[in-house]
Amino acid sequence: MPTKPKIAFYWCASCGGCEEAVVDLAEDILGVIEKIDIVLWPVAMDFKKKDIQAMPDGSIVATLLNGAIRSDEQEEMAHLLRRKSQYMIAYGACAHLGGIPSLANQYSREQMLKYVYEETPTTHNEQKVRPQLKWSENGREVTLPELRHVVRALDQVVDVDYYIPGCPPTPKITQQAVGALLEGKLPPKGTTLAPDIALCDQCARKGTKPTDVSFTEFKRPHQKLLDPEKCFLSQGVVCMGPATRGGCEAVCTAGNMPCTGCFGPTSRVKDQGAKILSSLCANIGPRDEEGIDKVLAGIPDPVGTFYRYGLAKCMLRRKVNLPPQAQEAKV
Ligand code: SF4
Ligand code: SF4
Repeated sequence: MPTKPKIAFYWCASCGGCEEAVVDLAEDILGVIEKIDIVLWPVAMDFKKKDIQAMPDGSIVATLLNGAIRSDEQEEMAHLLRRKSQYMIAYGACAHLGGIPSLANQYSREQMLKYVYEETPTTHNEQKVRPQLKWSENGREVTLPELRHVVRALDQVVDVDYYIPGCPPTPKITQQAVGALLEGKLPPKGTTLAPDIALCDQCARKGTKPTDVSFTEFKRPHQKLLDPEKCFLSQGVVCMGPATRGGCEAVCTAGNMPCTGCFGPTSRVKDQGAKILSSLCANIGPRDEEGIDKVLAGIPDPVGTFYRYGLAKCMLRRKVNLPPQAQEAKV
């Protein structure tokens, strides 16, 4: 009997949604599983790191790794799986671009830990206890992974062959990518496995997208009764569609929510946030400083709006005026 291609799934700094996306293949997953031999999938199967370590280098056909790289353990696993795999595939927005976890690059590691363990409104921690990297009791030692200073996308840590975008990727593009892999019909290395078109091209509202607009205010989706037919930009609501890659078939705009940009930029856009920011700012109605500030006040979280999924990979990458210890740290 011919051996089936070995495939690994792994997750790093992610929410688990990408794992759900694989399960969302529903009954189609059976067709996929029939053709492959899963050698690692921590969320669903009990293989261990030592099982992978024991495999010859390059013996896994492809690893689909989701999640950003935040800890030394995730970095170690990314290197191990890279060595063992012919193809390393960044699966989902966090592995592709840093994702929502990389919004933490606005803060130093210490600022983040201090806030989480000492300062959140719901924290009661008078002794300021924090997780320890090592703990010994009764002659036994337990360890925890150490957090790096910054969150990185997968290709900032290891060589990546392909990218499957989305938060999470849709079942359709997952299936198409796995199909291309199994049939040996992969495009050139470095390709993002989704259409290289702007999301607006797939959006049912594109006929109402304004060509000439003058923004006098921005509203967030919950602050307005949204017209389900009209382009969000014509309603003064930020939509990342013009700067975002298509492929999801505009599921959010179909559900009456603006696109938040999870598929990342097309190949023609260098910086997703800068692209949408420049087009919005060029169309702000008022020309005086006070008037401009008033309009922009409708976007209270610009980084979270324009770089929600891609801070690690954008031109800014992280906040620069961090404390010295975070500045000096390479990672
Ligand atoms: S800006 Fe948003 S709502 Fe308007 S056409 Fe593009 S994706 Fe659709
Ligand atoms: S509409 Fe935008 S945010 Fe929603 S799934 Fe598509 S790319 Fe992602």
